[in-house]
Amino acid sequence: MIDGATYVIDCGRSSTTQFARAGLRFDGLRSIFITHLHADHIADYYNYFLLAGSIPNQETRDALANPVSVFGPGPAGGLPEKFGGGQAPTVSAEDPTPGLAAFTEKCHDAFAYSSNVFLRDTGIRDIRTLVDVHEIAVPDVGASYTMTSPRMDPFPVMEDDHVAVTAVLVPHGPVFPSFAFRFDTAHGSVTFSGDTSYSDNLIALARGSDVLVHEAINVQGPNVSLPPAAMDHMLQSHVEVQKVGAIARAAGVRTLVLSHLSDFDEEPLDPVRWRKWIEPEFDGEIVIGDDLQRIPIPSSL
Ligand SMILES: [Zn+2]
Ligand SMILES: [Zn+2]
Repeated sequence: MIDGATYVIDCGRSSTTQFARAGLRFDGLRSIFITHLHADHIADYYNYFLLAGSIPNQETRDALANPVSVFGPGPAGGLPEKFGGGQAPTVSAEDPTPGLAAFTEKCHDAFAYSSNVFLRDTGIRDIRTLVDVHEIAVPDVGASYTMTSPRMDPFPVMEDDHVAVTAVLVPHGPVFPSFAFRFDTAHGSVTFSGDTSYSDNLIALARGSDVLVHEAINVQGPNVSLPPAAMDHMLQSHVEVQKVGAIARAAGVRTLVLSHLSDFDEEPLDPVRWRKWIEPEFDGEIVIGDDLQRIPIPSSL
């Protein structure tokens, strides 16, 4: 949130519910940024328009006020080979890699009956007018679904009166595109890694940020039972918690916030144990992320 305007990064399951629980208002929602099109990042995306578009939220008594600008991936352009060999079935073979614009249109189509009935019965606003999709154009650095994250400089995504947003491609297994975003404001800067394995692009994007929100996994411990191939696959998509402190140090950030956490050794994860893995590498503030936290950026304290 920046001076009363709210920006959402990714919309996984229950995102709209947690948005309201966090005390945020739908009439303050300015823009949504989608890092990549894995379901755990977009499962609740359409709910922002479906549920918050016309019927006031019961607690906050508000609904979306203006069209929400959305920024996210275009089509991948192709699918990877099946991991480990062999053939995988293809869903929607005529359009197997829709980007965010087609994803939104297909949601409009799928919910057409509900929308059309409500438009006639209760006079809701046309849901198509509530969302303004911008597929992020990736600079010409030779990136593709077979070369997902070549070395690149941060590039501009969007700028308004509160914030300038830049991005880089990050390596997230076979996913293309997968973005990290940086938000520069008058009060400070925050970088979100999205889902990524180790990335020099991310370190360059995050350089000097007040806050770096980074994903992490733990695959060490007596209860970890991933077969070697699955382990290798996991490490091509994510960063081990034991290595994330060095990334924060290399980027020179003040505060490291861990989000999108998985511990393959124990659930729920032990934040004291996680913190001990990071402290030897990073002497800034460390926050092991939890639901509904509020993290002020330093210069706004
Ligand atoms: Zn992902
Ligand atoms: Zn994810």
